[in-house]
Amino acid sequence: MRLAVITDIHGNREALAATLADIALRKVDQIAILGDIVGYGPDPEWCVDTVMALVAAGAICVKGNHDNAISTPGESLNAIARAAIDWTRPRLTPDHRAFLAKLPLTHALDDILLVHASANDPGDWIYVTSDRSAMPSFRVCKARVIFCGHVHVPALMTCDMGGTVREHKIPMGMPIPLLRSRRWLAVVGAVGQPRDGVPQAGYAIYDTVTNDLTFRRVPYDAAITAQKTRAAGLPETLALRLLRGS
Ligand code: ZN
Repeated sequence: MRLAVITDIHGNREALAATLADIALRKVDQIAILGDIVGYGPDPEWCVDTVMALVAAGAICVKGNHDNAISTPGESLNAIARAAIDWTRPRLTPDHRAFLAKLPLTHALDDILLVHASANDPGDWIYVTSDRSAMPSFRVCKARVIFCGHVHVPALMTCDMGGTVREHKIPMGMPIPLLRSRRWLAVVGAVGQPRDGVPQAGYAIYDTVTNDLTFRRVPYDAAITAQKTRAAGLPETLALRLLRGS
């Protein structure tokens, strides 16, 4: 099975459309969405509608902290994220809000775990940014391959039989063999708000037969999304972030 893993769409219609067009070219059998469909971006309705249609067609989706903040006003967010969620909430329909509220925190698919943030405490929204912060996920979760998002910077961690965790280099666009003698944690880059200095949508494809993982980048017209962000009256920093990719 070829599994496309996308995450952190963040109301970015142009990036999600470009990503789905790229996925359509790559013979994918299943799509997994790791949450944060909304927040920051100017097109939350279109993005939730699109994800709801994907789920109705068989895609898997788990909940992100921004999705959770729609129905949980007490969710802890920084001031800019809070402003964007307060802008987003009234734009969503009751159906959208019910869909987001009902999303699970994790989904197990054979020996794969799908989660938005750290797998050891999925509702605590802990960032996995290093070999050290990946350790609790490997310790608590028995899955052979863990996919998460939340960080908006792609990364790959590996854990050997002795429990030693280290970061693995990512050759972008090239298949990486996920050796079966090890366990793996892939932090998938954001579709809608990349923060690694590359203003392109990021996602990954995992082939469960060949056992190869490929991180991909997809160019999209960030200037359009930035312009919509400004026109919506969302914080200027969110528009600049899309243009810089950081
Ligand atoms: Zn996010």
